[in-house]
Amino acid sequence: MGAMCEICENRKDLELYIHIPFCIKKCSYCDFLSFPSSAEDREEYVRCLVKEIEQTGIVLNNKDTYQVRSVFIGGGTPSLLSGDQIKNIMQVVQKYFLIKEEVEITMEANPGTLTKKNLSAYKDAGINRLSMGLQSADNSCLYLLGRIHTWEEFLKNYELARKAGFENINIDLMSGLPGQTMSIYKKTLEKVMALRPEHISAYSLILEEGTPFYESEEIHKKIPNEEADREMYQFTKEILAENGYDRYEISNYALKGKECIHNLGYWSGVPYIGFGLGASSYFEGTRFSNERNLEHYKKEPYVPFMMREDYTILSQKDKIEEFMFLGLRKRAGISKKEFRECFHKNIMDVYGEVISKYEKIDLLEWIKNGEMLRLTDAGIDVSDYIFCDFML
Ligand code: SF4
Repeated sequence: MGAMCEICENRKDLELYIHIPFCIKKCSYCDFLSFPSSAEDREEYVRCLVKEIEQTGIVLNNKDTYQVRSVFIGGGTPSLLSGDQIKNIMQVVQKYFLIKEEVEITMEANPGTLTKKNLSAYKDAGINRLSMGLQSADNSCLYLLGRIHTWEEFLKNYELARKAGFENINIDLMSGLPGQTMSIYKKTLEKVMALRPEHISAYSLILEEGTPFYESEEIHKKIPNEEADREMYQFTKEILAENGYDRYEISNYALKGKECIHNLGYWSGVPYIGFGLGASSYFEGTRFSNERNLEHYKKEPYVPFMMREDYTILSQKDKIEEFMFLGLRKRAGISKKEFRECFHKNIMDVYGEVISKYEKIDLLEWIKNGEMLRLTDAGIDVSDYIFCDFML
């Protein structure tokens, strides 16, 4: 290790999230902060974003304290930005933050928006991980979801990304879609397995209030019942395990060494700063979010603290609860030693009763010679229910 690494070891890890709130059109199930935009809107937004990152970097002046271990450009559809725009954003990040040598820089990309030209520019800008929202390989499902792409268009973009040299790609999948049968879902998984992406996120559809899906009775009728949804969930676990994907979090699977550093940080309580419209942060024990109104956001990037709201200073109790909820999502579980170091308490003095209760019925287990506590396979299936019991 060189001198730089030794210095870095004394610094705390930090993650950055950058929100791009633009999409070509709104998907019917989506409640994320995103909307259509013009080329001018995007140009102006990037200008504000760059200012916000720069001003935050100056105010924090944190190069001695923090080192960035991951950057996640999410949305929305970040791949609507040109290569130059992504380069501008990354240049300012590099200028104002200390970046770890082995940093993970992810960008979300919507199939149908990637070209040879923008992919190679993203790569030049330092993006080393792509996260592609496929959701389903079935064109009628995609159509119903309101996605802008077909399976064939996704495939073309995926191949272009590989050709451009992206060696770390995530594919997002969804089960429990309206009209989706087990055989449709199986075909999706088989097609995706054949591509060997490094990472897969597999979630069940949730009907979010305020979305066209939530409002539509037709859609409600087409949603697979609980039994079918459970069958898809079981199948996901089995086929991904058979194909060498490790389930390192409740809904996330990766080939060896390809777990998402950014997400692992989130579940492990690593501080993060969010930039852009509506982005949330967790920094120095405080949670806060950015303004969600674009017109207001555009007025404030010169003084970023003016547009940050919902400040919540986490109490010791909040921190302990989050340590448990978030940490237990990870397959590796939580460390007894880390709990003691963080909170100066023995985990069994705080949660002894709850832990013993679930241990007895095989929903929680101690591994690594009693050092790590994690959910068992059966425990993961009822994790929401278990987490409620960790409220203090
Ligand atoms: S592409 Fe993603 S962020 Fe955009 S509308 Fe669809 S689901 Fe929402």
